[in-house]
Amino acid sequence: MENKDTHETKLPIRSTGTSITKNGTQVAKTTTELPDKFRISDIKCRELIAKATEMLNFSYTPYSHFKVGAALLTKGGKIYGGCNIENAAYGPTNCAERTAFFKAVSEGELEFAAIAIVGGANGKIRDFCPPCGVCRQVMREFCDPESFYVILARSEADYWVYTLEELLPMSFGPENL
Ligand SMILES: [Zn+2]
Repeated sequence: MENKDTHETKLPIRSTGTSITKNGTQVAKTTTELPDKFRISDIKCRELIAKATEMLNFSYTPYSHFKVGAALLTKGGKIYGGCNIENAAYGPTNCAERTAFFKAVSEGELEFAAIAIVGGANGKIRDFCPPCGVCRQVMREFCDPESFYVILARSEADYWVYTLEELLPMSFGPENL
């Protein structure tokens, strides 16, 4: 179904029975009825969140104890998990999102649809865990800002979907060189 009101895709949606339209009106929706313009289903979002949550178990954080898990969906339907990996020298620490991207790219994947991210102190998810600026830039290298989705979740049933463009506006990417 075509939706001519394309600018609505700039706005985040949330899963828990609510979506927010352009004028801020909240519209009741079931959790399986994300708007058609979002080319990802609620079921797929939940699957990614579940995988990201599973990845918290592998998070290596002896210093901060702040654990993050990510699940990256390729356009071909494969899912790559990632966790944050700290280092005694701090600088070499890698975020969960970049771990997932680098795993995928190192196996030949270059086209991505979405990433789910969860995290929290001691691996307990208390709030949304947005990606850091460095990870947003890495996403920008491989993803279309308008159609790549970043799913921030507090649980499988409580999440927001953003486009990369929303999280990294007016960005610098490969086509700028
Ligand atoms: Zn990061």
